Amino acid sequence: MLLDVDSALRKMAALVLPVEETEEVELAGAVNRTLAADVIAPIDLPPFDASAMDGYAIDATDLDHLEPKRFEVVGRSAAGHPAAATVRRGEAVRIFTGAVLPKGANAVVLQEDVVRSGDFAETSEPAHIGDHVRPRGQDVRRGAMLFRRGRQLSVYDLSWLAACGIANVRVTRRIRVALLSTGDELAEAGRPLAVGQIYDSNRFSVSSLLRQKAVETIDFGCLPDDPRAIEQTLADAAERADLIVASGGVSVGDADFVKGAVEKQGAIDFWRIALKPGKPLAVGAIGDALFFGLPGNPVSTLVTYLLFVAPAVDLLAGGALTSPLALPATLGHGFKHSVGRREYARGVVDWGVSASAGDDAAAEAREQRPIVHLTGDQGSNRLSTFANANCLVVIDENVGNLQAGDPVSFVPLALEGAHALRHRRDVEAN
Ligand code: AMP
Ligand code: MG
Repeated sequence: MLLDVDSALRKMAALVLPVEETEEVELAGAVNRTLAADVIAPIDLPPFDASAMDGYAIDATDLDHLEPKRFEVVGRSAAGHPAAATVRRGEAVRIFTGAVLPKGANAVVLQEDVVRSGDFAETSEPAHIGDHVRPRGQDVRRGAMLFRRGRQLSVYDLSWLAACGIANVRVTRRIRVALLSTGDELAEAGRPLAVGQIYDSNRFSVSSLLRQKAVETIDFGCLPDDPRAIEQTLADAAERADLIVASGGVSVGDADFVKGAVEKQGAIDFWRIALKPGKPLAVGAIGDALFFGLPGNPVSTLVTYLLFVAPAVDLLAGGALTSPLALPATLGHGFKHSVGRREYARGVVDWGVSASAGDDAAAEAREQRPIVHLTGDQGSNRLSTFANANCLVVIDENVGNLQAGDPVSFVPLALEGAHALRHRRDVEAN
């Protein structure tokens, strides 16, 4: 029996023991870190009533319908240089964007709506209380909750904290990840290949993707298909890491020793998932370390990393289990798929590109949904399918062969990998 992907994710999440140690870091180093404590706003933001435009600060009480409106200019308030003057009825203070609204004023008249002559400013436009004013505390009030613990901090989050004058945040310490590849056939890049060898790409893939996360990686290199060597390395890795990510050796071949090596000192919790590629993903634990045995095929390694390892790192850091953003799309061409496993095929999503095949139904579907095309033969050894993709096309476990125009969903790779979401059509020079 194969375990469905969603149940597998929940089982994985149940195995995670979140790391408890925390540290204080500067904002500049806090992107992708996970908050270990709630953050409360230390100030009102904006900290004072401010002008949103260049113009004249006035008291607009009862002025809506008075025409023309004439004010004596009694002062000047520029950003960083508040006016000393108080605005009374019939008076104005010349004001600029970001400057403190002077006492007595409650609105700003745009400078382009004003005729200025000497010390007087006149407008025939309506003026209401609050016009072009950014009230104190509009964006956040002092004492309000900015972010709860467990939030993985984005650049945008941190911009807001910076605006509140926060210099440091308390976050979970970096997750320690042990990385290893297994396989007698594996060679390191930079050396010529002997007959029967291939280069190890999986450690590169995983360590590069992990760079988007708040981790410290410990690289245990390439191991031969030798049960003792694998056991010893796993024992060492379990001592030093919160998470072990191995690739290869988790299937049912004579040289697949990884699961056995884990079971000697820990446990495999589940194995065999209704997933394509990535069926033999093995998940378990050795001591306190969470263990992932990723299938050796390079595409399977990438897909199982994106679906399982990436969220596991977030969970270890105290974050929540989140699912990839899957958006509706229309398949641009037919595709053979057997019922039983959810497939994550590599594809290109394009808005407004005509499908290669199309009946009326496909044409209609195109009106509402982007079209996705798969990147050729989907063999799980073929990294070219990933290099040319900007999304994973998700084909449900309970559907069979697909036709052009059929609904599918897609996960933009920009959000899960390091890749930018990119169109694959060449840009015409003009
Ligand atoms: P395995 O999971 O060990 O049965 O390997 C499945 C396939 O993936 C085989 O063709 C291996 O040669 C290949 N493979 C295993 N590990 C790696 C790796 N680190 N880099 C590239 N290919 C690999
Ligand atoms: Mg192998």
